[in-house]
Amino acid sequence: MRMSKMYMPTLREVPSEAELPSHKLLLRAGMIRKLVSGVYSYLPLGYRVIRKIENIVREEMDASGSQEMLLSAIQPAELWKETGRWDDFGPEMFRLYDRNEREFCLGPTHEEIFTDLIRNEVKSYKQLPLSLYQIQTKYRDEKRPRFGLMRCREFIMKDAYTFDKDIEGMKEAYQIMWKAYEKIFDRCGLKYKVVEGDSGAMGGSDSHEFIALAEMGESEICYCDECDYAATFEKANCVYEVKNKDGETLSKEKVHTPNVKTIEQLVEFFDTEAYSFVKTLLYKAKDEVVAVLIPGDRELNELKLCHAVNVNEHELEMADEETVKVITGAEVGFAGPIGLKKDIRVFVDSRIKQMKNIIVGANQTDYHFKNVNYGIDFNGEIVDDLILVREGDKCPKCGSILKKDRGNEVGNIFQLGTKYSDGLNATFLDENGKERKFYMGSHGVGVSRTLAAVIEQYHDENGIKWPLSVAPYHVIVTIVNTKDGKQVEVGEKLYKQLLDEGIEVILDDRKERAGVKFKDAELIGVPFRVTVGRNAGEGIVEFVARETMQKEEIKTDEVLSIVKEKMANII
Ligand code: ATP
Ligand code: MG
Repeated sequence: MRMSKMYMPTLREVPSEAELPSHKLLLRAGMIRKLVSGVYSYLPLGYRVIRKIENIVREEMDASGSQEMLLSAIQPAELWKETGRWDDFGPEMFRLYDRNEREFCLGPTHEEIFTDLIRNEVKSYKQLPLSLYQIQTKYRDEKRPRFGLMRCREFIMKDAYTFDKDIEGMKEAYQIMWKAYEKIFDRCGLKYKVVEGDSGAMGGSDSHEFIALAEMGESEICYCDECDYAATFEKANCVYEVKNKDGETLSKEKVHTPNVKTIEQLVEFFDTEAYSFVKTLLYKAKDEVVAVLIPGDRELNELKLCHAVNVNEHELEMADEETVKVITGAEVGFAGPIGLKKDIRVFVDSRIKQMKNIIVGANQTDYHFKNVNYGIDFNGEIVDDLILVREGDKCPKCGSILKKDRGNEVGNIFQLGTKYSDGLNATFLDENGKERKFYMGSHGVGVSRTLAAVIEQYHDENGIKWPLSVAPYHVIVTIVNTKDGKQVEVGEKLYKQLLDEGIEVILDDRKERAGVKFKDAELIGVPFRVTVGRNAGEGIVEFVARETMQKEEIKTDEVLSIVKEKMANII
């Protein structure tokens, strides 16, 4: 490609709305442009990288035995109503009507549609196992679209669905997918961790997330160096040691605590430690208000509460001030488990059972109770673990200290069990002619997010440093001065020579200053640059690797062999 003909609108200024390096660089390098919030156009250079990533995904999926197909992005509401997800998905789903008022959505994912296809066509165990995938545009009306391609409302995803006759088959398909994902992300050059994930709206039991590490990543993960435990912060089990479990059980006492509301204020007032308190938080969960009790020195994990109450994430929110007043009969800051004014469900972190003589709000403004004990003064629904894990906590598997990291989820794998085949009544006949439900798996790769994740790991202040495997082009031949006939001649010749060898090369033949050309080459991150300058006449050009920016003078007739040698390392 000749740069003089290329549509590559690079920007010198850093766009103010962009916070993340990948977002800034994608805009600056002329790879994407925003249409509206969370919706982007891929320009030629950006789209080349998307296609490279898609091809890696495609090759590895094919190699794993999965078959590519393409389903519609428009999906009828009826199928989603059959599984109950029409409501469960909530406001993240883009909904629309056709001219006959029939309801549809723009697919945020495709479990229902794939299951529907299979239930109508696959009737015998002999047709199983099946692994099918597509690379397709997905739509999700995200609450907070942000970070460029990281969290979009329209994005490209590879989604695969596996159908097996039993649990063992499903688990095997899961392992095959896991291996394929390792190959995909290795080939993209990503440094990543595989962590236990939460199954969320997908349902099912086991799931793992592939997190591309990044300092400014959206996902927090914790992991253990001593064993293989790794999980998202939301999923991670929290090991909490109760410190106030000893001593004599005392009798409940009401204490006047004027204006003492927060844990910090309480710690000072009672002259004790935060772990002596129990926090009572009120939440609206779908149609009910619930109370949740956790140790005073820890934070609530809202996702764990969702699971305990059995609601979706978007159905849970903190109760507003008015609700708190109605339920407790007091100002905010004095809620407790004893004497709530309404009969609501109370969820209690299991560790509270062992805590002795705790301090809680009295459901009366300016009052607390001390010496309160579970089972004597109050009861509730015990939940094993409701606490958000934090760095420094002990590993739930081996007891060592947990570490924390950040990254972006680029892929995940789910064991769905029979959730969707139950919901859609999808059955096949087994060896004995008995009707059985399919065991399914659902496996996603965020193709467009992967592009951003690669840039997060491969850039410097001047631009992107693409790994060869996903670089939009491999080599850029830069003619320093297009008025110099010799330079033009050598540049053109090298360009042709590389093209003829099938190497993806750009010729910077623009009538721009050398500085502009070098800046653009660094910004768009082409791995190798051949600079044809004033020594071109003597058969000497400069070779620069973007990764290190080290320059070396080489002979013009060595260019091809050096490029080929470097290219041999491509994964
Ligand atoms: P997240 O927790 O980041 O919202 P998710 O659990 O909703 O992700 P899945 O439904 O499993 O994601 O989708 C599969 C993959 O699609 C994710 O691993 C991610 O890489 C990508 N993805 C999900 N949502 C978005 C989005 N809004 N923009 C870009 N990529 C996304
Ligand atoms: Mg999501």
